[in-house]
Amino acid sequence: EAAIALLRERIRDVPGHPNPDVVFKDITPLLADPVAFGHLVELLADVCVRLGATKIVGVEARGFILGAPVAVRARVGFVPARKAGKLPGPVLSRPYDLAYGSGVIELKDDALAPHDRVLVIDDVLASGGTAEAVLHLIRATGATVAGLAVLLELGFLDGRARLEPTLAGAALHAL
Ligand code: 5GP
Repeated sequence: EAAIALLRERIRDVPGHPNPDVVFKDITPLLADPVAFGHLVELLADVCVRLGATKIVGVEARGFILGAPVAVRARVGFVPARKAGKLPGPVLSRPYDLAYGSGVIELKDDALAPHDRVLVIDDVLASGGTAEAVLHLIRATGATVAGLAVLLELGFLDGRARLEPTLAGAALHAL
């Protein structure tokens, strides 16, 4: 479809970032193009509405950039999943592994309620480690995971297979 072709055109490969083994998918050209960014927000908002989500959880940091306008468009609340130490007050924390080392991701413990159906939004699904940790945090609040939506999936890293048990039947949409 034309919208997807435009999104594809606006994602740039950056070999060697952030280390020599990686070809980084840079989405900043897409964000800088209001037509492409608009299409992206519409497509993700459609997913949100179709899944009947009541909240969007955006993953720091590019999940904030995408998730916030989608939440406004779909008329649902936005909840940030942040790296350790950034959110004030009681939080739920979950460690996850990165290509080199590890990180910790957090949600405010009162950000979601058991009646919430949550769509997680991030820009890229790579190994699936980040999304896996976020899905666990959402479940720990008692809320339901409606799905995970990303702009793009790095298929060769098999994040989808890794996430399958944690998704437990929830949707995974990669535009
Ligand atoms: P994972 O935990 O799935 O290995 O990595 C996904 C996380 O790292 C996402 O939050 C995503 O923003 C970031 N990430 C990993 N690789 C890339 C990439 O090539 N491009 C962008 N934009 N983000 C990436």
